[in-house]
Amino acid sequence: MVDERKAAILRITDVTLDAARELLRRKGFVELLPVIIAPVTDPLRHTTSRATIRAYDQEWYLTTSMIFHKQAAVQVLDKIFCLSPNVRLEPASWGRSGRHLFEFVQLDLEVRDATRDDMLALGEHLLVRIVERIRDACSRELNTLGRDLTKLRAPFARVPYRDAEERYGKGFEERLSCEIEDPIWIVDFPAEVREFYDREDPSRPGVLLDMDLLYPEGYGEALSGGEREHEPGQIRDRIRRQGLDSAVYGSLLAVARPPSAGFGIGIERLVRFLGGLPHVREVRLFPRVPGEPTEM
Ligand code: AMP
Ligand code: MG
Repeated sequence: MVDERKAAILRITDVTLDAARELLRRKGFVELLPVIIAPVTDPLRHTTSRATIRAYDQEWYLTTSMIFHKQAAVQVLDKIFCLSPNVRLEPASWGRSGRHLFEFVQLDLEVRDATRDDMLALGEHLLVRIVERIRDACSRELNTLGRDLTKLRAPFARVPYRDAEERYGKGFEERLSCEIEDPIWIVDFPAEVREFYDREDPSRPGVLLDMDLLYPEGYGEALSGGEREHEPGQIRDRIRRQGLDSAVYGSLLAVARPPSAGFGIGIERLVRFLGGLPHVREVRLFPRVPGEPTEM
């Protein structure tokens, strides 16, 4: 029997990727092939572990994000993007969050000499355009899913992290996402809650020039990004302040990086939002759900 629901979700995913690629190419971006294994990958300050393999007398990580490779890539091309498969061994209980897989795909992009404001504008343009394309090209699929996908209006509101925390308390993302009717930007994260590579605002020590986008209707975090630290002294200081191994991450200093900004948006979460799906697992034919064994 044909699974109409699954078919609709896969078609929406296909149009989503096409719309994203079309917009980014029109803006001068070049698509890179993904890095799947690397000796260094995003440290991630959450409760997430990184998967490793041993090959040719060396330890390799499965990519958790392409952050370091993106920053190196903008030396060669000024605007790049990649559909990057990420493996993150999230806690087994997160399999029930609706938002977590342990293998997922990020549309990861980076722009040389860009600012956070440039990335806020690009993120808005991308999401507005994708929603427009899905409403135009996938009305039958949305109907099959019973989804009323409303048009988005940019610019989205921008709320500093500290203000959101004061109003909604610690771990505010979920509550805030349930309350809003349009996507909302959270900006200015405190340095201690983020990775060392997001740039500290030179005029406001301890405050980062970064952002998250939250979906409305309780779908949670859509993307994270920001300006990047690029001065070796500042990177070294941030690595030290986070208690990370300077031998591992210090080696990144040997790779020249121009000033840049970028973000990564999770594809499964995006399609979950577009289709109004209860769980990201539905977006994949072979979902990798934390804590769940599988045969295929
Ligand atoms: P992060 O670098 O943690 O901000 O991840 C970038 C984006 O990838 C997030 O904003 C999500 O859209 C997506 N993402 C992160 N972790 C997961 C996961 N375990 N499952 C599905 N999508 C994820
Ligand atoms: Mg994030």
